[in-house]
This record gives sequence, C-alpha cells and structure tokens, in this order.
Amino acid sequence: MNWQEWAAKQGIEAVTNPLQIAKLSQDYYHFSPVLTPILEHKRADIVLKPATEEEVIAIAQACVRENTFLTVRGSGTGNYGQCVPLEGGVVLDTTKLQRIIHLEPGYTIVEPGVKLAQFEQQAQAIGWEWRMVPSTVRTATIGGFIGGGSGGIGSILYGQLRDRGNLLGARVVTMTDPVQVIELEGEAAQVVNHAYGVNGIITALTMPLAPAYPWDAYGVTFADFDRAAQFGLALGNCDGIIKKLISVFDRPIPEFFTTLRGQVPPDRCLVLTIVNHNDRLALTELARFWGGELVSIDKPITAIECTWNHTTLHARSSDPSLTYLQCLYPDLETIAHLRELFPEELIMHLEFIRSAGKVVAAAIPLVRFTTPDRLDEIIKIHETNGVFVANPHTYLLEDGGMKTIDREQLAFKQRIDPKGLMNPGKMRAWLELNQ
Ligand SMILES: Cc1cc2nc3c(=O)[nH]c(=O)nc-3n(C[C@H](O)[C@H](O)[C@H](O)COP(=O)(O)OP(=O)(O)OC[C@H]3O[C@@H](n4cnc5c(N)ncnc54)[C@H](O)[C@@H]3O)c2cc1C
Repeated sequence: MNWQEWAAKQGIEAVTNPLQIAKLSQDYYHFSPVLTPILEHKRADIVLKPATEEEVIAIAQACVRENTFLTVRGSGTGNYGQCVPLEGGVVLDTTKLQRIIHLEPGYTIVEPGVKLAQFEQQAQAIGWEWRMVPSTVRTATIGGFIGGGSGGIGSILYGQLRDRGNLLGARVVTMTDPVQVIELEGEAAQVVNHAYGVNGIITALTMPLAPAYPWDAYGVTFADFDRAAQFGLALGNCDGIIKKLISVFDRPIPEFFTTLRGQVPPDRCLVLTIVNHNDRLALTELARFWGGELVSIDKPITAIECTWNHTTLHARSSDPSLTYLQCLYPDLETIAHLRELFPEELIMHLEFIRSAGKVVAAAIPLVRFTTPDRLDEIIKIHETNGVFVANPHTYLLEDGGMKTIDREQLAFKQRIDPKGLMNPGKMRAWLELNQ
C-alpha cells in the first residue's frame, strides 16, 4: 500500500524525506558500542504523526489490515534502540499528541506526547510537579518515559516508575481487528509500564503528582570518593532534608561537565544535589560534618543535565571510548571493592534512590570499552559480587531489565497484538514463543 497517499487522504502528517526518516528511526543507542553496529542502519518506511486519538486508531487499523509493523516513538531519547524499527514499517511519532486533558492538585491526565518540562511549568503554577523526571526532562515525552524510562530526579523521594502508585492508569489503542480502545486502571496499567511499546499505543496516561518545593541545586566537593559516597548515603537517609537528587561522581567526571565550569572545582570528587530552599542550613551542616565543601549551582536544570545518563553523554563527548553500565549496588563496601578491581576501566557514578523504603546506591558507572567480551566479563564480575546489572547493551526488553519473562505482559501482548506487529524483535518472550 502507498502509505504516503493513504496518510494524505486521512489528513495525517507524514514524513517521507529519507534523511528525516533516518533521524526519526534512531535513538541514543550509540552510547553502546555493542548496539551501534546492529542498529545504525535500521529505517522505517514512513513516519506518521497523528494529532488525535482518532488518527492513532486509523493508523493502527491500517497497519493491522496491511500486516505492517508499527513502532511508537516519543522524542527518541531512549538508550537501547527502544524505538528503532528493526523491521521497517511505520514509525508512529506521538509528539503532536500534546493535550493536558485534566490537571488538578495531586494528579493529571495527559496525552503521551506531552513534553515533561513543558507540563511541569503548568503544574508548578498550581504548586505541583511530576514525582520524577529523567535528566532528559527538557526533551522527553511522558509516553516515552513510561514506555522506556525507569526513574530519575525525584526517585530519592518516590522510588521508580515501576513502584506501585507511580502510574495510575493508561488508555491504550490495540492492534486487534477491529482496533479497540481500552482503559487500564491501577495495577492493570503495569502491563504497559516499561514495555517498549510492544503491547499497545498509549493515548492517555493518568499520573500522580508531587508537591512542588522551591528547589535549589548545590555541589558538595570532597578530596576522596569514599567520603563523597558516605555523604550521599547520609543525605539520602536524612529525612529532615527534602531532596530530589543525590548524584556522586568520582574523578575525573567533574572535568567533563563544561556547564559547571567556574561553579565547581573540576579536580575533586563531586556530589550534585537538589534540595528544598529552606534546607540549606541543614545541608551545609551535614556537608561540613562529612568534610565536604558546599557550592551553589546557578539553576537546578544545570545540575540535572549533568546527572543520570547525561553523565555518560558528557563523558563520551570528551572521551568516546567510554561507555556505561546500570547497576544497583548492595552497599558502599561492594562499590569500594569493585573500584579496586577495575582501577583503569571503571569510573564510579552513583545515583541514590529510594527502593522498597530504603535508600540504595543505583549507579551508572562509566566503563572504558575495549571489546564486547571484556564488557561481558566486567558485568559478570559485578554480578558475582552481588550487584544487579540492568544491561544497557541489549535492545531486548527482558535482557536489559529484570531478566525474567513477565507472563502478564506477554499475555497482554497476545491479546492486544495477536499478529505481533508492534515494535517487532524487542520482546524475548514473544520471540521464543513464535520461533
Ligand atoms: C542523555 C540521556 C539521559 C537520560 N536519562 C534518563 C533518566 O534519568 N532516567 C530514565 O529513566 N531514562 C533516561 N534516559 C532515557 C530516556 O531519555 C527516557 O527514558 C525518556 O523518558 C524517554 O522518553 P522519549 O519521549 O524520548 O521516549 P522514546 O525514546 O521515544 O521511547 C521510549 C520507549 O517508549 C515507547 N513509547 C513511546 N511512546 C509510547 C506510547 N505512546 N505508547 C506506547 N509506547 C510508547 C517507545 O516505543 C520506546 O520503546 C536518558 C537518555 C539520554 C540520552
């Protein structure tokens, strides 16, 4: 079928320019030297940009009728080729689905293409904000965050997206014949949470909000990494200081942060934190107790865009041989042990978060890449030491995440995408079933 003609008849915006299609078929998988050669040449046949749910339904219906693969894309800032169309077909770009359907203190209902930062400006005007955002807050969509993200700035208060209560509901367009629109509430919505868009097109999300504090950003510098990590953990555990970010960087990472030049000394270990304005004194005293020196950062966004996977972005701009891992360390002793094991290959970067009621060290350490085998070996040694690694060097949903097959997610896909047209090749459970 001629998709360009079809889209024109429907009045749906289509992108047909090969250069633009190439751009809209990619994400940030290039942080991974393993994924780059596999994904860099993958292309959609066409990119369609629906502006309403009716247009989404029309596209889904046409794909089902024509047996055409469909891959949903928000802003394309995912890190593992999550929205790269492995088999071509249609890329459905959600960025015109930008309506805030409902906003009141405590929660919101939004279309998936709503940009996180734009929404936040409106919510903050009534004293509320997202519970958590990724460091890509200025570009990412809420649909993409739910479809492919995990957590970020705010996770030290509210945990991760997968935690109960952090997603209240989703409205989903199916790929059945005929296409249906279904509402998922509460726990039932978990099947589309972090599903890489393999099991339905989200057209609305009901999200809880958090009270917005007047936030200030600080750097706390230390001569020694262990002290910086201990301070980070102590700050995480200090319930009286309200904070939404605690990131810890070993040397030489602060040197990579060009936007912080003149604000923090680049030659010391660094903790970046964002705390409630009124907690400055308490933070200053805690920093002093641990031997750190406190400096103010001009704006929270300057700090945010150095943390989470922005750290890897800045590091790779200075040294493209660097890549990364995503870890959950059991304790600070294990971190110290692994730093000793890989003095030349691992540069530590921690993000303290709240997990099941405890403050834990999530981490996105930088790794000096040599070969895929050595990268696997470094991952295995981490695992042998009790570290959970969410491998960012695979595009397979399960292998990058919890490593187990999610039966409910699979059953839901069988029900709503029986032909397996959505984001093909990304779900191991589906591939194994249909081999
Ligand atoms: C520099 C950098 C820093 C980052 N920091 C963080 C971080 O702090 N925390 C974090 O969690 N992630 C982070 N990421 C990853 C990514 O930016 C976030 O997950 C972001 O929220 C993705 O949003 P997006 O709009 O770009 O989604 P996309 O990349 O476009 O899509 C992500 C996934 O969601 C699916 N999807 C999108 N919209 C829909 C929909 N409507 N229905 C169904 N499925 C859909 C897509 O198919 C894809 O599988 C980072 C990435 C980079 C490059």
